[in-house]
Amino acid sequence: MPKVSDKWPRPRPSQSSLQRRALHHPGRIWVLLILGSLTLNLVMIALLASLYEGGGTPGCKAERSILVAEKKKSVVAAPQQQSTAEELVSAEEISVSSTSGKRPASKDAIINLDHGDPTMFESFWKEMGEPGDITIPGWQAMSYFSDVTNLCWFLEPEFADEVRRLHKLVGNAVADNHFIIVGTGSTQLFQAALYALSPPDAPEPMSVVSAVPYYSSYPAVTDYLQSGLYRWAGDASMFDGDAYIELVCSPNNPDGSIREAILKSRYGKTIHDLAYYWPQYTPITDAADHDIMLFTVSKSTGHAGTRLGWALVKDKDVAKRMIKFIELNTIGVSKDSQLRAAKILKAVSDGYELPVSQTNHRLFDFGRQLLSIRWQKLQAAVKASDIFSLPDFPLALCKFTGENTGTYPAFAWLKCEKEEVEDCEGFFRKHNIITRSGRHFGVEPKYVRISMLDRDETFHLFIERVLMLHH
Ligand code: PMP
Repeated sequence: MPKVSDKWPRPRPSQSSLQRRALHHPGRIWVLLILGSLTLNLVMIALLASLYEGGGTPGCKAERSILVAEKKKSVVAAPQQQSTAEELVSAEEISVSSTSGKRPASKDAIINLDHGDPTMFESFWKEMGEPGDITIPGWQAMSYFSDVTNLCWFLEPEFADEVRRLHKLVGNAVADNHFIIVGTGSTQLFQAALYALSPPDAPEPMSVVSAVPYYSSYPAVTDYLQSGLYRWAGDASMFDGDAYIELVCSPNNPDGSIREAILKSRYGKTIHDLAYYWPQYTPITDAADHDIMLFTVSKSTGHAGTRLGWALVKDKDVAKRMIKFIELNTIGVSKDSQLRAAKILKAVSDGYELPVSQTNHRLFDFGRQLLSIRWQKLQAAVKASDIFSLPDFPLALCKFTGENTGTYPAFAWLKCEKEEVEDCEGFFRKHNIITRSGRHFGVEPKYVRISMLDRDETFHLFIERVLMLHH
């Protein structure tokens, strides 16, 4: 001890003595500085690591326990929704399998009807030939910009013209008093709309809701970035509050029903997802005229791989914010895809507007005829199996065809009526048929969604297999 007291406290070297030492022993000072900085780094790394692992220094404890408490609170408030969204993200990921997008290789091969992959339209476009083809010279469509005089500066004018022309022809939506915004699939536009409709300075994230059964991507896409602007809040019919964004999908994915918004607050916002509001799926009863309407070539013409959608947006400020989102997200949208989609939409409209002598390729007639045959076959197979049930759809006057037409949804929403079968997806899986369980759509696993849009050979194999299932 005395030794220590002998040497301690030492007089602290004055600044001038430090400077002197630095001048006399510059190497030693550098070594000391480097060692000091290394020690500091090591301490910081240890501190951060312990925080990530849930440890931490006592000084941080109070702050951290508040964070944990906050986290716990939100889990308690919406326990099911939180975990469901996480499950759904991983479920969507693993649902891409080696059988996705492929033809079944043999009679007893796996039949994958999980996705709504619209490959049934391939044969139509093969028949169409040259009017659906496109060649883009190497020097063309290179700039980021499409039309700087348009609010949506990355929108190709040819594509916009064909969108307006097609809506006028079909009569399914009012395009004239709306801005057109192009997106990388309507999936990007959906996110752009959430961004645009969520106030940036709100104390809490905006609640995003949709009535069950809702499209399985809505919860996953809403929550995967854990945005501070918006968050998934589940079934619209269970929602209690004034501020929300309601997603209205009509005809609805997965069950084909025609829908309207169910929440009616003046602070609430609505996004209408009209991906399936085309004459091959449903009678066109009116021209939709909502604030935000989303469409996609995936379901209208079958070109899911082109990854192109469009939004019709009434309000200029909302349109501006959606455009800003796409600017920040992908600096615009592929021009190649827009030029291809313009050609495809043109071929569809020409099919109805040019004299029959010049073209007899009519997409909506092709789609409706094929889907009506498929629905008849499925209904007969379901009846014969005596295991499942399907929803009923009424006939309605279609303003596009001028006839009373049926509803032929892109998906079959099948219920397993067998008492002992709780998990319908598992039941089908045992028979090498991949479907999507009702739980992804916010309902019981007694339901499954089955794509009706696959190629003929896959669909026929599916029907054959259903016919082999008996009580
Ligand atoms: N909305 C609905 C209702 C859909 O079913 C789909 C595709 N399954 C999409 C949006 C996404 O369309 P896109 O391929 O244009 O992203």
